[in-house]
Amino acid sequence: VPGAAELVEPREVPLGGPRSMLVRRTLPDRRLPTIGPWCFVDQYGPDPLADGPGMQVPPHPHTGLQTVSWLVRGEVLHRDSLGTVATIRPGDLLLMTSGHGIAHSEQSTAGPGALHGVQLWVALPAAHRGVGPHVEHHRAAELPQARLDGARVTVLLGEPAGDLAGARSPAHGYSPIVGAQLVLPAGGALTMPLEPEFEHGFVVLAGAARVDGVEAGVGSLVHLPPGARSAALQAGDGADLVLLMIGGTPFEDPLVMWWNFVGPDHDAIVEAREDWQADRRFGEVTGYPGDRLKAPVLPGVRLRPRTRR
Ligand code: MN
Repeated sequence: VPGAAELVEPREVPLGGPRSMLVRRTLPDRRLPTIGPWCFVDQYGPDPLADGPGMQVPPHPHTGLQTVSWLVRGEVLHRDSLGTVATIRPGDLLLMTSGHGIAHSEQSTAGPGALHGVQLWVALPAAHRGVGPHVEHHRAAELPQARLDGARVTVLLGEPAGDLAGARSPAHGYSPIVGAQLVLPAGGALTMPLEPEFEHGFVVLAGAARVDGVEAGVGSLVHLPPGARSAALQAGDGADLVLLMIGGTPFEDPLVMWWNFVGPDHDAIVEAREDWQADRRFGEVTGYPGDRLKAPVLPGVRLRPRTRR
């Protein structure tokens, strides 16, 4: 018998320093560090969480992960140290593979009330942490779309199970993974087929959801452990439900996360921080109107790998 669905409620955190908007963070959670290789989930909008400048994140580095940017509404300008300048629009997938090191900046081009979406990180498995950095911008029209029981499914990463198998994203993943947006009309229901070797998370981007009987509002996440062959999804009556489904085989490699870095151990994080502070490894983001972010001070203890409680 598969384990029970569990609600992860978000905490509000400022994104990218003092001049920043608040986002709703569900991963990493104290009890749940990862869902498959997904290790970070920040949701924002549809209403402004606070008055402010929207998303204004100065140049900062990443290692050992992929960033996934996904918008429901608004527009974000991405610049990175490979020279990419991309405008991310609703339905586009911006997938940035940091590998050994990359830097980028992100700026919304309208006020915070017009910005609605999610930013996620995918941890690279140990064998691929050192890959060269690269960026993929898949426009909405390039991503597989399918209909299932009145729901609209858009595949971001990997491929869904059951009747939707074969709807494979062109985006490059490095471990068994799935990511898909599901839109259900208000009051609608969907039996979503799942790969039983995967664990899954359902993040509510808009509307209200019930996932295997667990109710969740905007910004919340419902976790389903491995073993489930489907999930019973229901949309609240008030509005269309927009859900982001994430999943994969449980992540087994040692995973240390600190600031914007993912690595195998404490020393790898220290080295990444030193390289950023000394302007090595990550390259230069040109065109951002302002200074780059400085790394915070490391804690006085050794960073430990994340484990599940
Ligand atoms: Mn970033």
